[in-house]
This record gives sequence, C-alpha cells and structure tokens, in this order.
Amino acid sequence: MSKVPTITLNNGVEMPQIGYGVWQVPDGEAATAVATAIEAGYRSIDTAAIYENERGTGKGLTASDVARDELFVTTKLWNSASETWTRESVLREFDASLDKLGLDYVDLYLIHWPRAMRDDYLTIYRTFVEIAASGRAKAIGVSNFQPEQLERVIAETSVVPAVNQIELHPNFAQAELRALHARHGIVTEAWSPLGQGRGLLEDPTLARIAAKHGKTAAQIVLRWHVELGNVAIPKSVTPSRIRENIDVFDFALDADDLAAIAGLDNGTRLGPDPAEFDFN
Ligand code: NAD
Repeated sequence: MSKVPTITLNNGVEMPQIGYGVWQVPDGEAATAVATAIEAGYRSIDTAAIYENERGTGKGLTASDVARDELFVTTKLWNSASETWTRESVLREFDASLDKLGLDYVDLYLIHWPRAMRDDYLTIYRTFVEIAASGRAKAIGVSNFQPEQLERVIAETSVVPAVNQIELHPNFAQAELRALHARHGIVTEAWSPLGQGRGLLEDPTLARIAAKHGKTAAQIVLRWHVELGNVAIPKSVTPSRIRENIDVFDFALDADDLAAIAGLDNGTRLGPDPAEFDFN
C-alpha cells in the first residue's frame, strides 16, 4: 500500500499529493522508471504528449501489479502545430494520447500552456468538458494558466479547472496564484518542485533545516509543498532518489522552518513565462 496522502479535487476525485514526473525521461527508459516509482509507492504519474514517452509510461503502468483504479495518470495536450485548435483536433489528440498510454481513461487531462495570444484555449477547454462528461478523463485542468485565463474559463464554462499545474518551488512560491486557486477550489500542482535540482538544493537554509530533521534538502522542499497543500511531481531516474522523494510523511516542519523557507522566495523563474510562451 502507498502511504502518500491524497487531496480531494473539486469534483470529488482523489489525487495523490506526491506524484512522479517523467519529463525528459526517454520513451525507452520510461517503463522502467515508472515501474520503479510504482514499486517505491508512487501512485500518480505525470506525463504529456510533448514528453514523447506516453508509450513507455503506459508500459510501466501495465507492467505493475497495482490495479488501474489505484493509479492516477495525468497527461497533457501539447500546444501543437500553428493551427488553431478545434473540437475535432482536440478529440483527435486526446485519442492519440490514450492510445499511446494503452488506457481507456486518464485521471487528469491538462491544457499544457494557455498560449493566450492565439485565443483558442476556450475551445480546448470546452472540449475537455465534453471529454470529462464522457468519463474518459476523471478530471480536467490546466497548466501554466495566469489569473485572467483562469477567470475567463470559469466565467465562460462554469466548470472550474480541478488543477492548475504551475512552476513552483521555494525560489518561486507563486503566492498570488495560490491564493486565487484557494478562492476557486483549484488544486495547485507544482512543476519543477525541486527547482530542477539546481542551486536550490544546495541552499544553506535548506541544509540547516535538513540536518535538524535528519532529512535531505530535497525532502525538506517536498515536505514544504505537502504542508502548503500543493501537489508536487518531482522527477528523478535514480532509484534511491525516487524513493527518497516520497519518504516525506514521517516528519513535520515547524513554524520557524516554514518562515525560513518563505524567505527563499526571490521570484526566480526557471522555465518560460506563460505570458510569452507560444512554442509549437
Ligand atoms: P524537479 O524540480 O522535479 O527536478 C528534477 C531534478 O532534480 C532531477 O533531474 C535531478 O537532477 C534532481 N533531483 C531529483 N531528486 C533529487 C534528490 N532527491 N536529491 C537531489 N537532486 C534531486 O524538475 P522537473 O523535472 O523540471 O519537474 C518535475 C516534473 O514536472 C516533470 O518531470 C514534469 O512531469 C513536470 N513539468 C511540467 C511542466 C509544465 O509545463 N506543465 C514543465 C516542467 C516540468
């Protein structure tokens, strides 16, 4: 049994608070990586069409002896060609993802980037609502959406996204979006939750808190996400780190720890700014 607690999404679906992200895992290695993660106790896997490893991810899922209804699988609709999305092209992309994963439903389907300059995310989202109604996605949400885009999909469709998956780590804590999510009942899911393992994990403040709890800096950061109420999807292909990143449920941060980590927020974004990102 997995010890990872779940968060209840706004439609009643349960989502594990720590999942395993497979960005940059080659398709040929994804099955082994996913199987290792499931063996370690992960039940939630985060992939995307653009990661080009949905096939390998699917193989890892079916190779495990964990029942499908105990697993939580997320994939994402890529920005794709310069075409404007239509209902038909969204449905086609969704079918292609299901086919590669070898699944008849996903637990969560996300719009990967809003590309607000193209103004077609409402068409995409309305089709997602249709997909959810068919039961082929248990929940739908968005990724990299900014406040105005969230407010617009809610106003136009009355269907509140279950999740907004955004860059979030102690150096980029996203207070404004987190507050907006809380007001609307949207779960905040953190991508690059470890700050991509770059300088953040060598930070002396995190080292001090890690020593105090007998944990690693990565575990302190992941515990911080859990206590904030975020979902986090750390990535590693190293089996010992895969296990380490889920071993964060036997200790708690205190108020001093949380205040010190809050002091690390310096507005450093590692990924693209969603306001400008239109990658095809
Ligand atoms: P991350 O913050 O999870 O960092 C991963 C890196 O940190 C690893 O490659 C490794 O170098 C290091 N690391 C991992 N565990 C460690 C440990 N215990 N100790 C020391 N170093 C460790 O960054 P990420 O891979 O960018 O993000 C995680 C997941 O988020 C991705 O796999 C993907 O699923 C998702 N993601 C989504 C978007 C989006 O636009 N929606 C963008 C980027 C990533």
